[in-house]
Amino acid sequence: MSEITLEGLEKRYGETTAVEDVSVDIDDGELLCLLGPSGSGKSTTLRMIAGLETPTDGTIRIGDDDVTDQPAYDRTTSTVFQDWALFPHKTVLENVTFGLKMQGVSKDERRDRAREMLERVQMAGYGDDDPTTLSGGQKQRVALARSLAVNPDVLLLDEPLSNLDKRLREDMQIELREIHDDLEKTFVHVTHDQDEAFTLADRIGIMNEGELIQIGDPHEVYENPKNRFIEAFLGDTNFVDATVSRTTAEAAYVDTELGAELVLPTDREPAVDEGTDLTISLRPEILSIDRAADATGDGTTKQRAVADGSTANAVTGTIRNVVYRGSTVRYSVSIDGASLFVERSDAGVETLAAGDEVRIEWNGADALAFRTDGTRVEL
Ligand code: ADP
Repeated sequence: MSEITLEGLEKRYGETTAVEDVSVDIDDGELLCLLGPSGSGKSTTLRMIAGLETPTDGTIRIGDDDVTDQPAYDRTTSTVFQDWALFPHKTVLENVTFGLKMQGVSKDERRDRAREMLERVQMAGYGDDDPTTLSGGQKQRVALARSLAVNPDVLLLDEPLSNLDKRLREDMQIELREIHDDLEKTFVHVTHDQDEAFTLADRIGIMNEGELIQIGDPHEVYENPKNRFIEAFLGDTNFVDATVSRTTAEAAYVDTELGAELVLPTDREPAVDEGTDLTISLRPEILSIDRAADATGDGTTKQRAVADGSTANAVTGTIRNVVYRGSTVRYSVSIDGASLFVERSDAGVETLAAGDEVRIEWNGADALAFRTDGTRVEL
C-alpha cells in the first residue's frame, strides 16, 4: 500500500511556480530521496506533505486519509530541519520530550520514550545537557530523536545533513539508513547532494524547475536517465556534439566534434534520421585510456566489432593535463580540437603524463544519446 500519494501537486507564489504537477506514490516503509538543484521545488514539496505549505492545486493522501486541507499538527508526519530548530533554553531531554508533551503523553512515558530515542541516535547520557553546547552532528542527532519520539508514520527530512562537514555527513548518511531500516517507517529526504541520495535512497525522485522529472531506484536513474538534464546532474560526463551521418538496421553512425565517425549500436531500427543533431554522453567510467603505441596513430576513429558482438569506438589524442584526485587520476585529452576527460584508478597502473599520445576506447553500446531538446534517444 502507498503510504503517501501526491496527485497533481502544485504550488505557486505569485508569478513563481515552485512545484508543478507532481504525482507520485511513496510506498509504506520506503526511503525516498527528492534530489535536485537548489530552487527545484524539493523543500516546497516536502513542506506541503508536512502541512507547512498549502498546495495551490492537487491532493495529498497519507495512508487512507486525504490530508490536503489538514493542518500540520493533525498529520502523522514529523519533520527534521536543516538548522535543527532545537529550543535553546531547554535541556536535550526536554527538547526530545516536547512533542510528546504536546500529545498529552504522561511524564514517565515521555522520559522513557525520549531516553530510548536518544540511545537510538547514540546520544544517551546527554539528556541534561544544554543543546547549544553540542556539536553540529550531536544537535542533528537530538533533532532526529525529537522527531522520532512522537512515533510518526512518516519522517520528513529537509536537507538535515547539509550543515555538517563531509566526513560526519557520510557517517550520518549510513546511520540514517540504519535507523530507517530499523524502524521500517516511511522517510522522505530532501537533498541536493547526489552522493547522499545514492547512499540513502530506495528510490530517488529527481526534480528540476518544479517538476518531478524521473523517479526510480538509484541504479535505474543512473543507468537509464530520462533526459540530458539528469545525465548531467548525476555525475561528471563528456558531452560530445554529433550529427547522424547514416543508419543501418543495427546502428546509427554519427559525425562528431572528435573529428570522425562513431557508431552507436542499436537493438532495433535506430529512432533517429540522418542529419539529426545529437549530444552523445561518454561517462568517464566507460572510457579506457592507453598509450597510443599500439594504436594506428593516424588520429582517426576506428570502429571494430569485438568478440561479444558489441562495437568498440576509439579515438587518439594528446594528454593536456593530469589531475591527481586521491584514488583516481583524471586525464584531459585533446582530440582534434575537442577534448574528453577520462578517469582511471591510480592503483598499479603506469601513470601517463601531459604530452603523451593516447588512445581512448569504449563500447559504443555504453554511450547515451540525447536530442537537442534534451530527450533521450532509445538505442
Ligand atoms: P529547493 O528545495 O529545491 O531548493 P524550494 O522548494 O525551496 O526549492 O523553492 C522552489 C522555488 O520556489 C524557488 O524558486 C523559490 O525561490 C520559490 N519559493 C520557495 N518558497 C517561497 C516563498 N515562501 N515565497 C516565494 N517563493 C518561494
